[in-house]
Amino acid sequence: EKIGFAVVGLGKLSQGQIIPGLKGARGAKLAALVSGHPDKARRIAAEQGLPADAIYTYDDYDRIAHDPRIQVVYIVLPNSMHAEYTIRALKAGKHVLCEKPMATSIADCEAMIAAAKAADRKLMIAYRCHYEPLNLEVMRRMRSGALGKPRLVVTNMGRQSDLSDPSDAWRLDQKMSGGGALADMGIYGVNASRYILAEEPVEVRAWAQTDRSDPRFRTTEDVIAWQFRFPSGAIANGSTSFSYQGTMAYQVFCEHGKMTAEPGAFYGGNHLTIDGAKGDREPKIHEIDQFAREMDWMADVVRGKAPLVSPGEEGLQDMRLMHAILESVAKGGATVRTDWGYRRAYDP
Ligand code: NAD
Repeated sequence: EKIGFAVVGLGKLSQGQIIPGLKGARGAKLAALVSGHPDKARRIAAEQGLPADAIYTYDDYDRIAHDPRIQVVYIVLPNSMHAEYTIRALKAGKHVLCEKPMATSIADCEAMIAAAKAADRKLMIAYRCHYEPLNLEVMRRMRSGALGKPRLVVTNMGRQSDLSDPSDAWRLDQKMSGGGALADMGIYGVNASRYILAEEPVEVRAWAQTDRSDPRFRTTEDVIAWQFRFPSGAIANGSTSFSYQGTMAYQVFCEHGKMTAEPGAFYGGNHLTIDGAKGDREPKIHEIDQFAREMDWMADVVRGKAPLVSPGEEGLQDMRLMHAILESVAKGGATVRTDWGYRRAYDP
């Protein structure tokens, strides 16, 4: 029996990736839509073969509590709405898969984790790279130690933004996004440096470069470059921007070799090059629909058949690290300690 998902927010990601991904999933299926736009919801429901009574609005959302077709609620709303809609779904007795970034504040992340505990429901953050074959291959090779110890990780994650696109307008707004390019794209680099190295940063320092006369950057930073220091002695250099050409790439420099993932975190077409591994320069990586796999994973978590690889605690850790980056920016690049003792519960 497939696990029923309600998709909350029918924007670009839901229409482009999540709903198509559910079609291809083995163990998960679309069961309901939650939207503020009745026409859009009716059109998508008709396309997906959903009955009219499987459409909810934000006002009658809490009625999902009485809908046994829904087991998981997938939150695909602007970042500032994640906490409220996650907590309401948990109170309605549903499990939640919530998009990244988990929320816009540390307190909201903590409240979401507490709500999941109180309701005894699962809370997973949609870190798709934890379920994506190239990134899993990089993790496998790092854990095998084949290239020697890692010394430096470089992550560059950003893109050009467009204030006239409604889906970028909220991303460029500090209140709704919680941090512009960093919260949207840079988070992939923060998260990747942690899952590549399998340890947590103890210190960070960061600089920003933002043109305040550019109408896009009234409330958020544009370019941010940061450095994390890890207990092993490895360093991670990260950058993000909403004014450079789209890139989601990283490199890992080890004692005896180098891995380049470029692109390393796209929806498809990711490419890995390895220098220093004989006969294995471009390992063949079998491409899959990473969104389908992520939702299948959540379905298996609900069934008690899979561990939570990206629980709320992972989202909270990135939120705390992004806040430390912004604190360092505000202090002109001062070093900020991040050694508060977090450890990942499960290594994919
Ligand atoms: P989007 O702007 O295209 O869609 C957001 C949806 O929320 C829209 O349908 C909009 O109508 C609705 N909405 C409800 N209340 C709103 C309000 N007050 N203001 C604006 N919109 C409102 O955004 P998106 O690109 O689909 O992103 C949604 C979420 O998914 C974000 O949290 C984003 O970070 C995340 N995301 C993740 C990935 C990924 O690869 N995992 C990719 C894209 C987006």
